[in-house]
Amino acid sequence: MEKLTAVKGMNDVLPPHSATLEWFEASIRTLMRQYAYRNIRTPIVERTPLFIRGLGEVTDIVEKEMYCFEDRLNGDSLTLRPEATAGVVRAAIEHNLLYDGGKRLYYMGPMFRHERPQKGRYRQFDQIGAEALGFSGPEVDAELILMASALWKKIGLMDVQLELNSLGQPAERLEHRKALIAYLEQHEDKLDEDAKRRLYSNPLRILDTKNPQLQDIVNAAPRLMDFLGADSLMHFNTLTSILETNGIAFTVNPRLVRGMDYYNLTVFEFTTNRLGSQGTVCAGGRYDYLFEQLGGKPTPAVGWALGVDRVLELVKSDGERAVEPVLDVFVIVTEATAFPFVMKQIAMLRDLGLSVQMHAHSATGLGSMKSQFKRADSSGARFVLVFAADEMAAEQVTIKPMRDASLAQQTVPVQHLPIWARTLQSHD
Ligand code: ATP
Ligand code: MG
Repeated sequence: MEKLTAVKGMNDVLPPHSATLEWFEASIRTLMRQYAYRNIRTPIVERTPLFIRGLGEVTDIVEKEMYCFEDRLNGDSLTLRPEATAGVVRAAIEHNLLYDGGKRLYYMGPMFRHERPQKGRYRQFDQIGAEALGFSGPEVDAELILMASALWKKIGLMDVQLELNSLGQPAERLEHRKALIAYLEQHEDKLDEDAKRRLYSNPLRILDTKNPQLQDIVNAAPRLMDFLGADSLMHFNTLTSILETNGIAFTVNPRLVRGMDYYNLTVFEFTTNRLGSQGTVCAGGRYDYLFEQLGGKPTPAVGWALGVDRVLELVKSDGERAVEPVLDVFVIVTEATAFPFVMKQIAMLRDLGLSVQMHAHSATGLGSMKSQFKRADSSGARFVLVFAADEMAAEQVTIKPMRDASLAQQTVPVQHLPIWARTLQSHD
């Protein structure tokens, strides 16, 4: 039979790594609560036009990375979401979420992009994102950046760098665009295929090229920063002054543009040099025109998204931490007939808050007491409870401490179990 494997670029998350992921998600929930961001969950499948209108037609994602398919019933074009901001804004408009003022939201979940899989770049990957909807001032841009910085500190990533830029407003971008096209036309013979194609459709994106041969040309290109008006500059300067006051180091990168067309004013990226060309772990910016583009009322907004796989890659390279859940009790059962009674005792222990793993039949049976003890040992449980034939006859249970040498093994009446369980400090 043909071997069944996962789709290329789509990964299984297995224990113990899944425990690291759960630990990270728990850190995020705490962080979001501290910053008063509330959870939103939108569907994984959206109508294709949402992304075309939201992200822009001439973007990598829309041009070549989306998983689109047809709804068999009505022929609608649907897409596995490549990112979640468009869906969040769609939901905010659809449910009139901002009727009583701005909303701070966060999401976590899988995104899908048809890219060339490599370390830190997958076809299904998890993102966590924060969006502040309905807020126009640079203080919220700063709040989001402070929150991300707090996260790096909290999970022990010390080498994440912040790069900032301002994309200004559409009118300013238009002036810059004219100057940029005029400049690039002078060098047209040296441009690569991608750049030539984008020369008139999306010249700003050419500045973001990874082609080393174009670096000199883009380095000398007209800078958007030099085309900003007073209001845009004020927004940018207020943001940087908040960051400075709060001890957040950053560099201004005038060539920083983002992969989606919806950004204006502030854009930023958190990067490391430990992940090769997949060095951006978190990216975001302001998108004050997206609501209108998706048919809503004009509404300022700003947000970021982080790549969970990349962040956890860094955490792992710092040494996988002991985040495996602590198991309180492993239960050994030597007679199959004991299960009804034993499982009642286990339910009681769990009700008291303990984590309990029960030995059960495998394909080869229950196994000997010795082999069960081996499993108990490798489970990492703090205690083993033995329900063997002799003990069951006398309605007794043996409690064997596995980790603490100062405790002695004891055999007690089964009805004493709740008292014993209450003396245990649960690790939850
Ligand atoms: P890149 O330049 O690396 O392709 P991007 O600009 O396409 O990133 P965004 O769309 O801004 O990325 O997504 C935010 C974050 O999500 C990225 O900074 C990255 O950490 C993560 N990310 C994006 N694409 C992938 C992917 N294919 N696999 C894993 N993580 C990804
Ligand atoms: Mg990309």
